[in-house]
Amino acid sequence: MLVAMTEQQQLFHLTSKYPLDELQKLKKQQSFFCPQCKEQLLLKAGQIKIPHFAHQKNSECDSLFSEGESAAHLLGKQQLFHHFSNLQLRTVLEPYLPQLQQRPDLLLTFKNRQYAVEFQCSPIAKPSFQQRTSGYLHANITPIWILHTPDKFKGTGILKVSINHTNTQFIQQYKKQKFLITYDVKSKTFYYISNLIHLHKLQYFAVVKKLPLSQQRFPLLVPEKISKSQFHLLLKNYRKYREYYIHPRLLLSKKGVNDQFFRSIYELRLTMTDLPIFLGIPVCNTHAFNQFCIEWQVGFFHFMDYHALTPKTMNERAIPYFFKWSKLELTDERKAAVEHYLAILRHLNIEQLGENITEEQLFNVLYDELVAFGC
Ligand SMILES: [Zn+2]
Repeated sequence: MLVAMTEQQQLFHLTSKYPLDELQKLKKQQSFFCPQCKEQLLLKAGQIKIPHFAHQKNSECDSLFSEGESAAHLLGKQQLFHHFSNLQLRTVLEPYLPQLQQRPDLLLTFKNRQYAVEFQCSPIAKPSFQQRTSGYLHANITPIWILHTPDKFKGTGILKVSINHTNTQFIQQYKKQKFLITYDVKSKTFYYISNLIHLHKLQYFAVVKKLPLSQQRFPLLVPEKISKSQFHLLLKNYRKYREYYIHPRLLLSKKGVNDQFFRSIYELRLTMTDLPIFLGIPVCNTHAFNQFCIEWQVGFFHFMDYHALTPKTMNERAIPYFFKWSKLELTDERKAAVEHYLAILRHLNIEQLGENITEEQLFNVLYDELVAFGC
């Protein structure tokens, strides 16, 4: 914690303006208390972490979710606090909100609206994330979750990243653009992870961009849409991934005819090494399937073929039957993914698997569908 109550019932902020020796002196003269539970706090002014307050070891304070705070969390809070204060925003550090029994890292006021900034340095379980988010929303406060940049995100350009289930909670959406805002305290830099294209399980291709803290604004900047040339590169990487996926997939198919993918390829009389380019394409919500999209997209063609349907004659309302038929669990997100795939096939005028479409046609439709309109 960076804020405590003094004996005189004044809030004391541990901003970066206090030199260490002054704090050592203060520690001997003053007592500090938790604004929430009123217990006495320890002022820790050592060499490793920045000066901060901590509860006694066996405290049962509600605010303890932030105890054992990492050095990065303390420092990040302080850096963000100073930066937003310098932008002339009303910025309050660690305000205790009694009606919510929550204590966001920062509370900002901008154009009469309140924003709670949470700088998340440790994993947060889904129930407490949802509880805190809905708490803020009920109080008319917009939560902004900023993730501490994991090492694997520190790069620029198109990267293959793995985003675990905890971190997918922090994916934000603005004007149909989905992205993740992360902040690295060491380099005082934001890393934006955007244009996420799901690959397999937790893996995605993403565009990673850096933004120094000094250039950050409020409301927080949102990433620009990617250019056609960058999207070209992204799709090229995707196609490569698709190839790498297909070959070992077939060679290692141990389930033989019981392997749904293998069976569909066979029934559709396709050649593994020469699959149509519209099988295995990125569409919205593919992350809802754990598997690489080519698996269910081939399955979808198999379903249509089996029922003598084509993308043109296939009815959206029949999509749930596809799930039943292929023994896949049906969820809203998955259904939306199949609907989107069907819409793309129709834009491409695909009537049958033998259809010849060019890379350029596919590129244009995917750019419109995934970037221009967004997911
Ligand atoms: Zn407390």
